[in-house]
Amino acid sequence: MIDWHIVCDFDGTITPTDVIDNVLQRFAGPEWETIEQQWLDGHIGSRECLSRQLALIKATPAELLAYFDSVEIDPDFPDFVDHVIGLGASLEVVSDGIEQGIARILSRNYVTLLPILANRLRQVDQNSWRIDFPYSSDACRAASGNCKCKSTPRNKRVLVIGDGKSDMCVASTADFVFAKGSLAEYCIANRIPHARFDCFAQLPALLAQLPQSVAANATAFTTADLFIENQELLHHV
Ligand SMILES: [Mg+2]
Repeated sequence: MIDWHIVCDFDGTITPTDVIDNVLQRFAGPEWETIEQQWLDGHIGSRECLSRQLALIKATPAELLAYFDSVEIDPDFPDFVDHVIGLGASLEVVSDGIEQGIARILSRNYVTLLPILANRLRQVDQNSWRIDFPYSSDACRAASGNCKCKSTPRNKRVLVIGDGKSDMCVASTADFVFAKGSLAEYCIANRIPHARFDCFAQLPALLAQLPQSVAANATAFTTADLFIENQELLHHV
């Protein structure tokens, strides 16, 4: 897989829950949900959404760290990282979430040295915060905090692993997608070649079919015996 680059989402993909949503539920007033709905309805991009939401947070660093330390990840993600690195692929966690939280959560689960491209919390005073967007782009079609397309290399085949709205733009230009949640529905609706998955334990078997299948115009995935037991697991167009 030496010519593959993997763009892996964090919230809802590596974790079962959304870290920012949980931070907002714990530490912000209820108006964060009105802003969230504006984003879900497509009225604002995630960059504006996150800027307004994170300004609502009232939490000390210790309170934020205590929450980050309560977040669980998919238990098979660390082995998956070792697996893909062993295969020669590159992998980056590319997230519209909080870099410091992701780094804290991954290191607690013995995943270190993995590049993390995400938004950055900046402390304003004792318990107030703002969020910076080191990977945003004014040209971003989704007006995201983190433009996942911008940081995706052009000289490699790209595999996107994700679950939701923040992955849709980059998924539409990827060579292949491993999708769960609303991203899987998006891939179906937009005829994006993908395999549906539920957990990282399933991915080594999917990866094993990937290089030859895409090189052969991805047709191998239409008849993959792996998915006989659950035809809904795989969708190929
Ligand atoms: Mg996500």
